[in-house]
Amino acid sequence: MTAHPLDVARIKSDFPILNQESSSQAAGAVAAGSAQQISGDRGRLVFLDNASSTQKPKFVIDAMVDCMQRYYANVHRGIYSFSEASTERYESARKTVAKFINAPQTESVIFTAGCTAAVNTIAHTWGEANIKSGDLILATEMEHHANLVPWFQLAKRVGAKTQLVRVTDEGLLDIEHFQQCLELKPKLFAVTAVSNVLGTINPIERLTEMAHRAGAVVVVDAAQAIPHQAVDVQALGADFLVFSGHKVLGPTGIGVLYGKLDLLESSPPFLGGGGMISRVWNDGFQAAELPAKFEAGTPPIIEAIGLEAALQYVQNIGLENIAAHERRLVQEAHRLLDGMEGLKVFGPGPEQKAGIFSFTLAGIHAHDIAYLMDKYGVAVRAGHHCTMPLHKRFGIAASTRASFYVYNDEEDVRWLASSIESLKSKFRRRKS
Ligand code: PMP
Repeated sequence: MTAHPLDVARIKSDFPILNQESSSQAAGAVAAGSAQQISGDRGRLVFLDNASSTQKPKFVIDAMVDCMQRYYANVHRGIYSFSEASTERYESARKTVAKFINAPQTESVIFTAGCTAAVNTIAHTWGEANIKSGDLILATEMEHHANLVPWFQLAKRVGAKTQLVRVTDEGLLDIEHFQQCLELKPKLFAVTAVSNVLGTINPIERLTEMAHRAGAVVVVDAAQAIPHQAVDVQALGADFLVFSGHKVLGPTGIGVLYGKLDLLESSPPFLGGGGMISRVWNDGFQAAELPAKFEAGTPPIIEAIGLEAALQYVQNIGLENIAAHERRLVQEAHRLLDGMEGLKVFGPGPEQKAGIFSFTLAGIHAHDIAYLMDKYGVAVRAGHHCTMPLHKRFGIAASTRASFYVYNDEEDVRWLASSIESLKSKFRRRKS
């Protein structure tokens, strides 16, 4: 299929936050409690922190506001029309998610508070029921802490062992080391589909096949994959797959846990409370069927409706088109910045990665870079990006990350490059 170029100007016009002044001006006004639109010099706002969280199009905002203004009520409880309308939209969101990831059935889609909550749910349910003392849990050096710490915690609770598959100097998963680790017969393999720092797109289908042959259950962290490429849980062979809504133009407070039906059915529930039971006696309970079994309490109703709108918006642009667009932007970043004195880029070349560009600049701390770039209206992330083992692997404490999405264009990349150039010469002058 041929990808079509994105009409970035039109897309950008869908995002109210991007149609105002530079972020620091706008945020400053918000902090100062200004109710008015700031006027005057309209600085350029270049939002390049999309791997952390994305902005929201009016389509998503409107869907959520519409729910709150016209038909909001709790779901699965009331028999009045508002509750029925909310329930219908909440369940419609589940169907949209199931279709988006090609889940074989809708009940395999559980709404959680986010990607982190989804991983923790797996660890506390399937994990506790199946990982025993002495078992091995395998993850990788490029995992986000959200796909590491819950496994360390589980290992501690049950007396299991953990091991991380190494990352090569180029920023790829070391397949030879992976093969060696599989010989140790891990019970579980936790892997990210796309690294949030290196941008590396992992060959999940192949990894899953290899892990399955060794008898491991595979948990795929799709937090960085869902916004940028088509994700098909059946083609990937994922046993579990998790992601967050806010990284794909949706709201915060919602994430998805997909699991194979038999694994979810055979796992105990996690949180107890209303909604997750079919019956309660004076001394016990019977868990509800899927998906309610894993959705205790009032679920994120407005957020699910927002997530559905976000996925529809993304689908309308086309994931193939988004992937091609990001590749062009990341190629441009490499073209402009590769070889710059003192700049080190992490991760593979543009062909093997999503729209993520992480780097260090000799002699300038990542936080100083991000702070100074904000002065140019460029929002980037600095720090360890919740991947301390990965940063340790590359012998650094922090990096600066620019990450692209549908509302970024080549001009944004050029702005990024010239800001780096400019802050570098400022630092040089200050030193001399
Ligand atoms: N995994 C990856 C790869 C991520 O990038 C993130 C967010 N930075 C997470 C998991 C955690 O997502 P959340 O904070 O939305 O739970």
